[in-house]
Amino acid sequence: MRLFDLKGRVALITGGNGGIGLAFGRGMAEAGAAIMVAGRNTEKNAAAVAELKGLGADADSVVVDVSDEASCKAMVAQTVERFGGLDILVNNAGTAVRKQPQDISLEEWRLVIDTNLTSAFVCSQAAYPEMKKAGGGKIINIGSMMSLFGAAFSSPYASSKGGIVQLTKSLACAWAPDNIQCNAVLPGWIDTELTRQAREQVPGLHERVLSRSPTGRWGDPDDHCGTAVFLASKASDFVTGASIPVDGGYSVFI
Ligand code: NDP
Repeated sequence: MRLFDLKGRVALITGGNGGIGLAFGRGMAEAGAAIMVAGRNTEKNAAAVAELKGLGADADSVVVDVSDEASCKAMVAQTVERFGGLDILVNNAGTAVRKQPQDISLEEWRLVIDTNLTSAFVCSQAAYPEMKKAGGGKIINIGSMMSLFGAAFSSPYASSKGGIVQLTKSLACAWAPDNIQCNAVLPGWIDTELTRQAREQVPGLHERVLSRSPTGRWGDPDDHCGTAVFLASKASDFVTGASIPVDGGYSVFI
């Protein structure tokens, strides 16, 4: 399956030390890519690297705070120094503050927008010269069902994830001449640290997700492995600016 082969490719994944980001790493590692795991928590980073090495991948980690521009630039520079280039960037790091809009402080709003949306712009901007130099690249942004829907507890998060879809389209248009494809993945409700917290904070959420999903289950992070390989590989060279739900049908079911 040469179309999906990622041997010789270097992938950088923000928030790659757990949840959906690490599942992207597992998928791409199994297809042959070298993986740079980027996150704040050094213990989680080290455990993720060990797991990816166990799959036979060349893997390393870098500490980053994606809400800090200098840290994002340093992360890209360290990736290029360590692996000799950068072919695939996954803008996955994310956070949420779940409150009614009238109760959200400006500081909380900024934290979510900076972590989820501005970071994707800053990291992509930092990666662009490397991808251009290499003759092409792949940028994969992680959106959400909140890229499509709203929720009472979700104003900054939904705004950031709606922005991800539009940022994806704009980067796709701007960098198509450089053979850089930029797409978004919109995960459904996936069982991770982030949503374990959500289930504690939002009464009835667990049951609502089950009854609203045609597949009748929460997603597993590894449900993303195939889409990760597709969007990172030659197989998707004519796919750009798209937002692909990986949601077990949640977004098409009433
Ligand atoms: P996790 O909580 O498991 O992962 C979040 C990741 O983001 C962690 O690796 C964390 O690293 C990293 N992170 C958060 N803030 C920062 C920061 N400032 N700098 C660097 N890294 C940071 O949750 P998920 O795997 O669920 O979330 C991953 C992405 O998927 C997010 O963008 C989320 O919005 C999105 N998503 C998740 C859904 C779900 O149902 N789970 C649904 C739709 C979208 P560290 O621990 O080191 O800080």
